[in-house]
Amino acid sequence: MSTAVATSLYGPDRDELSGLLEGEPRYRLDQVWTGLYEQLAAPGEITNVPKALRERLADALPTALREVTRQVNDGGDTVKYLWELHDASRIETVLMLYPDRVTVCVSSQAGCAMGCGFCATGQAGFTRHLTVGEIVEQVVVAGRQAREMGRRLANVVFMGMGEPMANEPTVWAAIERLHGALGLSARHLTISTVGLVPGIRKLATRPLPVNLAVSLHAANDELRNDLVPINKRYPLDALMEACTEYLDAKGRRLSFEWALIAGVNDRDSDARELTALCRRFRLPAHVNLIPLNPTPGYPTVGSSRQRVADFRDLLDSLGVNATVRRNRGTDIAAACGQLAAGQPVATPRRR
Ligand code: SAH
Ligand code: SF4
Repeated sequence: MSTAVATSLYGPDRDELSGLLEGEPRYRLDQVWTGLYEQLAAPGEITNVPKALRERLADALPTALREVTRQVNDGGDTVKYLWELHDASRIETVLMLYPDRVTVCVSSQAGCAMGCGFCATGQAGFTRHLTVGEIVEQVVVAGRQAREMGRRLANVVFMGMGEPMANEPTVWAAIERLHGALGLSARHLTISTVGLVPGIRKLATRPLPVNLAVSLHAANDELRNDLVPINKRYPLDALMEACTEYLDAKGRRLSFEWALIAGVNDRDSDARELTALCRRFRLPAHVNLIPLNPTPGYPTVGSSRQRVADFRDLLDSLGVNATVRRNRGTDIAAACGQLAAGQPVATPRRR
């Protein structure tokens, strides 16, 4: 067995693993692959391969994630993992159990360079891109945990730390693995992006029709420049064009994320602007409304429950389909935008 590939357990694809198993009988590859991806077994537990080989595999392909903490919330239905990677960077993964489905929210980068002020990951800044193995292993570990709880993990959302479209080739390789090896359906894989136009364009050329969620938060450039600084590079018109391209290529529903911030983007005029934008580009989008979750570095608060309901009703009456996303994990800072992996974030400004 060659040890030339410096990687982690879930890094190599089937061909690369085959290279690592050189000199072993052909069927070993199937045994190891099935063990890793169907049984979700750690190498030491793939008992139908000889112990010596298991040990060599464990040496050549160490796990990428070392558990630092595991926190549970919502009566056991939300589990947040804090992981340390080989270079001491830290990332988080959130597993969410619902009555009808199990979803894992994975990180695609350690930190994020996009600098959205209301997001704890953005406040902490960028460390590095994750590797395929680091992304896939988050899903495998969550799948194992779900199985222990008598459930099956079927949904993956790239809504953890980082901007997936800034790390598109790696995210795509991870998607292929989740689809091909773990057997997850493309309909159940969702990439959330802040709106990196080249990434969305590239994604439109990829073969699997994964869901795309675009974090919009504002429907005019002035406000969006303020909330999502990358909008200055890829303004709304360019973003909407790229969304149209994606929709045309995939025929899948697009969704817009809208974190409702009190007095900032929750006014009637914001709902009207959003409606106008969807009409102008003929985008049959679905809007996910998320009341802004508190983060240490952002002084403004989320909209009240009543305002969230009114904003949704107004969108509905204007013909825009909108739902309010149920909040998960707020007690353990596991909700949207709260993932900072324990890193310091900017000091809160005074209100
Ligand atoms: N970088 C990607 C994916 C990770 S963020 C993106 O921005 O889409 C996942 C979602 O959480 C995004 O829709 C983001 O806008 C939202 N979010 C960030 N901070 C938030 C906060 N404080 N409250 C609610 N949602 C937040
Ligand atoms: Fe990055 Fe998304 Fe947070 Fe913006 S909202 S800083 S893009 S993780």
